Amino acid sequence: MASLRQACEDGDRSPDSVTLIAVSKTRGADEVAALAALGQRQFAENYLQEALEKMDALAAHHLHWHFIGPIQSNKTREIASRFDWVHSLDRDKIARRLNDQRPAGLPPLNVCIQINVDDETSKAGVSLDQVAALAQLIHELPRLRLRGLMAIPRPDSKDRGRAAFRTLAMTLSSLGNTIPNLDTLSMGMSDDFDVAIEEGATHIRIGTALFGARPARQ
Ligand SMILES: *Cc1c(COP(=O)(O)O)cnc(C)c1O
Repeated sequence: MASLRQACEDGDRSPDSVTLIAVSKTRGADEVAALAALGQRQFAENYLQEALEKMDALAAHHLHWHFIGPIQSNKTREIASRFDWVHSLDRDKIARRLNDQRPAGLPPLNVCIQINVDDETSKAGVSLDQVAALAQLIHELPRLRLRGLMAIPRPDSKDRGRAAFRTLAMTLSSLGNTIPNLDTLSMGMSDDFDVAIEEGATHIRIGTALFGARPARQ
C-alpha cells in the first residue's frame, strides 16, 4: 500500500506512529498467510466463528488478532480468550463479561470504545455523552486495558468524515484528563484512511484496499 506512506507524509506523521490492521473478514486463511509472509502481523475480524477457523489454521504464524464486529454476550468467552484487542466495545455488560472471562495467563485485553459519531440509531457504538461513564467503568476493570476510541463515520463526504475524526480525537484527549495512558485512535478504512491519518489516527483498519473488493458473505 504505497499510499499509506504518502498519507503519512501529507499528514506530517511518522509511518511508525500509524499501525496498519488488515481486515480479513470473508478472506481465506491462504490470503491471510500470503499477507503474513510479507510481514503483516495485525489482522482484524468481524465474525467470531469465521475468525476462530482462521486463527486455528494460522496458529503457526503467531499473528495478532483484533475483534472489530458487534459483540453478542454469548460470544464474549471466546473473544476474551482468543483475541489481543477488541475495538467495538460499547456496553457495560459486555465490558464486565470480557473482564471476567479474560484468562489469567494472558495480559489484560486491549480495548477501544466504539463511538457512534454520527448518532445514527442503526449503528453500533455509544453516544458521545455516554463515553466518559463507560470509559471510567472499563478503567476500573483489571483484566481490560482501555487504549482509546474507535469509530466508523458515515461514508457520505470527506468533510463530514474529517469532522467526525476530529471529534473522536478531541474526545480521546478530554478522557485523557481523568484516565492515564490512552494512546489509540482506531479510525480510517480503505476510503478515508488518508483523512484519518491527518486527524491523528494511530490504527487504520483496511480491508478492500489490501485484498480487493469483498465477495458477498455466504
Ligand atoms: C469491514 C470493516 C473495515 C474495512 O473496511 P474496508 O472499507 O474494506 O477497508 C474496517 N473497520 C470495520 C469495523 C469493518 O467492519
